[in-house]
Amino acid sequence: MLLPDERAALVDYCLKMQADDLTVGTSGNLSVRSGDLIAITPSGVNYDELTPEAICIVDLDGTVVEADLEPSSEVPMHTAVYGATDAGAVVHSHPMYGTALSVTRDEVPPVHYMITLLGGPVRVAPYARFGSPELAQGSVDAMVGRSGVLLRNHGATTYGDTLGKAYTRSIYLEWVCKLYHVATQLGEPALLTQEQLDEVAEGTGAYGQSVKRGS
Ligand code: 13P
Ligand code: ZN
Repeated sequence: MLLPDERAALVDYCLKMQADDLTVGTSGNLSVRSGDLIAITPSGVNYDELTPEAICIVDLDGTVVEADLEPSSEVPMHTAVYGATDAGAVVHSHPMYGTALSVTRDEVPPVHYMITLLGGPVRVAPYARFGSPELAQGSVDAMVGRSGVLLRNHGATTYGDTLGKAYTRSIYLEWVCKLYHVATQLGEPALLTQEQLDEVAEGTGAYGQSVKRGS
């Protein structure tokens, strides 16, 4: 079986995504790249039924290399992100606040400096049918200079050099979208200026550490 470690990590993060309430039902999909191969979740499978064997392996063109089930319908978006960036993992979800914002705004308002962890105010890509090459292209176009994007009337996608980073960015993105929603209930939110974001971005590039195990 190809990429056993990547398959196991994907199953773990799918369960995490469900526990964190980042998506609904079987929506969303996750992938990890290893060399010329991509391990990606199958289409429309309940996350709590997922096993490492159910993960699909495709190449960078999206051609199936090893799969018992149909790979995610969003293979074109995942391969587009790998083609356009140095991503090692991609996380796509349908989170409530990010998706709500995608139908009302063109960009995530900079209400918190944490948005710099995604490269700055995240943009909303134009609507296109799920799984379409148009959605894939629109997503990477809107992601230039960012490590995340909201998809109009659909959801959110983030990437990182590891699955952990890609996932954490999805969590931060959703948190900033939720913060914006809560803040607007209380009044007119103050927004950070580009200068304030730039000042933070100089320091956040290296934010986050990993605990070394077994030493
Ligand atoms: P899959 O179940 O095919 O991965 O699709 C879910 C989804 O979010 C489509 O945009
Ligand atoms: Zn989706």
